[in-house]
Amino acid sequence: MAEAALNAMAQQLVDLTLCKTRYDAWDLQWYTEGPFWRRTNMRYSREYKIIPDYEIGDMKHGKTLENILDESESLTKSLEQYKVNAGEKEMQRVNYLLDHVQNLNVRARMLLGERFSFDQMTDGLYCLVAPATDCQKFDDILEELNQALPGTGSVQEKIVGFRKKLAIPPEHLLAVIKDSTQVFHDIAVKRMDVTGNSMPRVRVRELPNQDMVFLSILFGYDYNHIEYERNFNLLYPWTVDKVVEYVGHEMEPGHLTYFEKRLQTMIDTCWPEMSIVSQFSTSNAFGEGSARHVISMSFDNSVEKLTEFEREVIFRNAGIDPGLAELMPLWHRFCELSGYGKLEASRKIWDQVWTEEEAGRFLERYGFAEPGTGAEIVGHMAEDDGHFVAHDYSRDVVREYFNSVTEDVTQQWKLYEKLCCAHVSMRGIKDRTFRVE
Ligand SMILES: [Zn+2]
Repeated sequence: MAEAALNAMAQQLVDLTLCKTRYDAWDLQWYTEGPFWRRTNMRYSREYKIIPDYEIGDMKHGKTLENILDESESLTKSLEQYKVNAGEKEMQRVNYLLDHVQNLNVRARMLLGERFSFDQMTDGLYCLVAPATDCQKFDDILEELNQALPGTGSVQEKIVGFRKKLAIPPEHLLAVIKDSTQVFHDIAVKRMDVTGNSMPRVRVRELPNQDMVFLSILFGYDYNHIEYERNFNLLYPWTVDKVVEYVGHEMEPGHLTYFEKRLQTMIDTCWPEMSIVSQFSTSNAFGEGSARHVISMSFDNSVEKLTEFEREVIFRNAGIDPGLAELMPLWHRFCELSGYGKLEASRKIWDQVWTEEEAGRFLERYGFAEPGTGAEIVGHMAEDDGHFVAHDYSRDVVREYFNSVTEDVTQQWKLYEKLCCAHVSMRGIKDRTFRVE
C-alpha cells in the first residue's frame, strides 16, 4: 500500500517533468517508458539531437506552466504528509522525490519569469551552492603556464599556441574516438557489473554547424542492452582534453552507464522516478559530477596513468608530438580552473555584477577564452547558466565524497555503481551523510 502511494506520487513527478519539456526543450536527458523499446521506423532527422525525444508527443501535452507549478506545490504537500509516518527504509526515496519536485518547481518559476539570485537558482535546481573561487588560483596557474608552455609572446598567446598543438586533425578523429571509446568500454566492463552490450557505435561526420559537438540516436534498449549511435562533429575544434571529456564522460563509464543502471533499477523495482533524468535536477548534477570523476577513477585517480593513456591512444593516433604529453597534468589543472573561471563569470553576469563585456574580458585575460572570443563564449554560457555548478563544482563535491567514504579506487567503483541505482541527492553527497547498502 505504502509503495503504491509513493509510486503514484513518483508517476506524477514524471508526468509533470514530461509536460514541462514543451516549455523547456533541453531538459530531458534520458527517458525510458517501459522495460524495452525499439525504433521501428526511420522517420527522424539526422540534423538534430534525437535522443531521447522519441514517440512520446502525447505525454508532453495537457498542462500549462501554471498547472505544473500548482501541481508541484500540492505534490510537495502530499509528500511531506507522507514523510511524517514514513518508515526509515523509505526515507531516502521520499527525500529524493521531495528534492526533485522542488527542482521542478523552481525551474517552472524561472520559466514563468521569476528572478532568483545565482546561488538561489543553483540551490533550487541542483541542491548545490558553489562557494566563491579565489582568483589568486587563476593568477598562479597563469604564472605556471607562462613558465612551462613552449613558444614566445604573452602567456595568453602561449595558451592559444598549445591548444593548437593539441588539436586533432579531422582525418584522424575517427581513429582517436574509436580507440578511446574501446579503452573506456573495457575499463567499464572490467570494473563494474555491466553487461558489456552497450558500447555505442561511433561515427564522425560534418554536422550542420560547428557548435554541435555530437549527435546521438537511440535505436532501442532492454534490460541488457542499449542500442545507441553517436556521431561526432568533424567541424568541432577537437583537442586531446575534449576527447577524454566527451568519450569517457558522455558514454561509458559516464552517462551511458548511468542511464543503463537507472533503466535496470526501474525494471527491478517499478519505481517511475528511475525512468527519467531531467537536466535541471539534483540527480542530474550527481550524474554530471560523477561522470567527470569516473574519468579519473578509470586511471586509478592517477594523473600519470591518464597522461599515459593520452600519449599512447590519443597523441599517437592523432599524430601529435608525444613529447608534449608531459604538459598534460598542468593542462588538465588549467582546464579544471577554466571551469571555475566560467562559473564565476556566469554568476557575476546572472547577478548583474558584471556586464557580458566585462565577463568576456575576464575570460580572455586568464586564457579561458581565446583573444576576441570572450563575448561569444559568454553568449554560449547563457544557454545553461548553472552548467559549471552542475558539472565542475559537482565533480569536486563528488570527488571529495568518494575520497572521504572509501579507502581505495576499487571501493570507489563499487560505490559509483550503487549510487547510479540509488535515490541520490547532492545534499547528502555534499554533507557526506548519504549512504548506500
Ligand atoms: Zn554530461
